[in-house]
Amino acid sequence: MNIYDIETIKLLLDKRLKISIIPHKNPDGDAIGSCLGLYHYLKTHNQDVKVVSPNDFPDFFKWLPEAENIVIYDNDPKAATEQIEKSKLIFTLDFNSLKRADTLTPLLESSEATFIMIDHHQAPEDYAKITFSNPNASSTCSMIYSFIDAMGDKNAINQTIATCLYTGIMTDTGNFKYASTTSNTFKIASFLIEKGANNSQINSNVFENNSYDRIQLMSVALKNMVYLKEHNTAYITLTSEELANHNCQKGDTDGFVNYGLTIKDSKLAAIFIQEKNYIKISFRSKNQHDVNAFARRFFNGGGHINAAGGRFDGSMEEATAYFLKILPEFH
Ligand code: 5GP
Ligand code: MN
Repeated sequence: MNIYDIETIKLLLDKRLKISIIPHKNPDGDAIGSCLGLYHYLKTHNQDVKVVSPNDFPDFFKWLPEAENIVIYDNDPKAATEQIEKSKLIFTLDFNSLKRADTLTPLLESSEATFIMIDHHQAPEDYAKITFSNPNASSTCSMIYSFIDAMGDKNAINQTIATCLYTGIMTDTGNFKYASTTSNTFKIASFLIEKGANNSQINSNVFENNSYDRIQLMSVALKNMVYLKEHNTAYITLTSEELANHNCQKGDTDGFVNYGLTIKDSKLAAIFIQEKNYIKISFRSKNQHDVNAFARRFFNGGGHINAAGGRFDGSMEEATAYFLKILPEFH
């Protein structure tokens, strides 16, 4: 984060503009945690700020401080539209392309606000006046910490901010497990714990929040898993009928894809989830095997080297047939 950009942001904040903070569609722990972390930070400086999300987020993040004050376009399009239209400063967090804001994209495209992007995905688009992009960062939450630090304001990090940021670092690193987890990640986590983030409580809030239905759905997912030894690839399918049978709620299928990678010698795991008009796909991989490039090339998606997503327009059978056909292209 260069000093000129930080000075520019300080000047912008001095103007006391109306501010919106935007996460990507289907916000995960890092998106919600970073938005709320930045929100509470700006609140400590009495800024006029709101978080506006394209759609709802899982129950297991609803306990985050002031999660209930997030304006959700799907639930209240009028309030969301008004907030964005009146904003003069807009932070977009945890995404690299305006199209990831989904229903909010047209509003953002027509906005004349000054944009600031803070994100750790590869290949950021060039829509923001200031772009903080660090694909090596474990999470956008750790970048929010670095941003506050660069502002010379580490002491402003209180228990509330620390809790939000810790949550996103924890979820985006797979509980401090992925290759993106460095000694610096632990240093930041340590600082946040010192400031009052409660590790075991946050873990419990996020991961010990399953419904019985979700566990039953997981058993269906694991039963449906196919392992292609010759491709070191595991994939799971879940049809809309199977989802409905287990009363699937937002976030219920999160993490299922990771089980594929626990198979010895596997290098690629995928899950195909049937939505109303398309198949939503998540990919996970090990080491240098690049699912970001794969999702971009074949599934109109993207993400990171070892975690990416995309979509397929068609039936489940067509999606898996296409996947099997192009699989030899995955490296
Ligand atoms: P997940 O599989 O957990 O939904 O997402 C894994 C990673 O890929 C996340 O960083 C997410 O932002 C990104 N991602 C998921 N779906 C899409 C997509 O459709 N397009 C793009 N560009 N990125 C995606
Ligand atoms: Mn993230």
